[in-house]
Amino acid sequence: MPFFDTHTHLNYLLATTQQPLTQLMEESQQAGVEKMLVVAVQAEDFKNIEKITALYPQRLYYGLGLHPLYIKQHRVADLELLAKRLANPPKNLTAVAEIGLEKGVPELLTPELWQKQCEFFEAQLSLAKANQLPVNLHSRKSHEDLYRFLKSAQLSVTGVVHGFSGSYEQAKRFIDLGYKIGVGGVITYARANKTRETIKRLPLDSLLLETDSPDMPVFGFQGQPNRPIRLINTFKILCELRSEPPEIIERVLWQGSCLFG
Ligand SMILES: [Zn+2]
Repeated sequence: MPFFDTHTHLNYLLATTQQPLTQLMEESQQAGVEKMLVVAVQAEDFKNIEKITALYPQRLYYGLGLHPLYIKQHRVADLELLAKRLANPPKNLTAVAEIGLEKGVPELLTPELWQKQCEFFEAQLSLAKANQLPVNLHSRKSHEDLYRFLKSAQLSVTGVVHGFSGSYEQAKRFIDLGYKIGVGGVITYARANKTRETIKRLPLDSLLLETDSPDMPVFGFQGQPNRPIRLINTFKILCELRSEPPEIIERVLWQGSCLFG
């Protein structure tokens, strides 16, 4: 069974490493990483991501969105551009991503900027709903707020809370709303006890694998840009945590990932 990296910033990885895309795609395929979802963080990314993913439309899917970490720079015109792109999507534009809330950076929590975060998030949830596309969600120290927005948005096609870190109860609430939980490199660190315990206990069909490359390096590769092939490191740890056999885990992960491609 192949693997699907459900959250990567491939455009930034290529810019950082200067590796040719053909080589990256080749090495990913050899490692079994057949498909990827490339997600945007700002309007400036849109063109480049479209260009990259158009070269491998069977393997590279993409999401467009405005990330909360860059909330200061987003403009209403960016939302309009996003709406335009989503209204007429090519086949491999399969998500609104990366969107969400960020409470881990104090300077983004002034009343004005928090208000702007909430407004941009809500607007993008509406676009996802109108276009029946799943969302790929960022949530740092903001699970409560995120939950509140998702609950009132009532998307018919849901999505994933990416790179999840948190308690079983927090994860379970998202799952009960119909969302999946993105499992990233964090579980490769022994110190991530709480998140490991969470991932161990959640229903297998609620989990998706991701790298968030070039961010979130897996254990043993700190200080290096993370890459889609490291998905396998995370998969191995997941297999150690879970009671199901690896073949079953692989199959269920793949089936769940088809949400994005
Ligand atoms: Zn990301």
